[in-house]
Amino acid sequence: MSAQHSTSPSAVTATLRTAESLCLQRGKRLTPIRRKVLEILLTQQRSLKAYELLELIRNVQHGATPPTVYRALDFLVDEGLAHRLDAINAWTACLDAAGERHDLLVVCTQCGAVAELSDPELSSQLASKVASAGFMLSGHETELRALCGKCRHHGHAHKG
Ligand SMILES: [Zn+2]
Ligand SMILES: [Zn+2]
Repeated sequence: MSAQHSTSPSAVTATLRTAESLCLQRGKRLTPIRRKVLEILLTQQRSLKAYELLELIRNVQHGATPPTVYRALDFLVDEGLAHRLDAINAWTACLDAAGERHDLLVVCTQCGAVAELSDPELSSQLASKVASAGFMLSGHETELRALCGKCRHHGHAHKG
């Protein structure tokens, strides 16, 4: 079983095209800056911190400011085209935005790799468990902090 997402240039183009048509269907616009941010996330094949993203964006768009990039990220997250990862304070492109909504995100806290899962049943069980404690889950997704296979094999770097 290979869960490897190979983000070849054509796969990036295809995902961008999907994103464009999703926005179109919803009456939203994938503006050039939003598209660029998504493209960078897709090309990098890993999650990125805001400053990394800003650096990469500035290579192609010199005037880009943090607020512009944050607004673009907010849009992408709202439209389900990207995921915000609180566990590592980063963002990642959604690799199947047209499919089922991903409600569980497994995040490698070491390298930032992300597995997107969809399990509405589990999520609603979790939500009612949380509700019985008098709380309400915030955000669309539940993040699970984890260590990916690669990082597990690279020995134990004990970090905070
Ligand atoms: Zn996703
Ligand atoms: Zn990892």
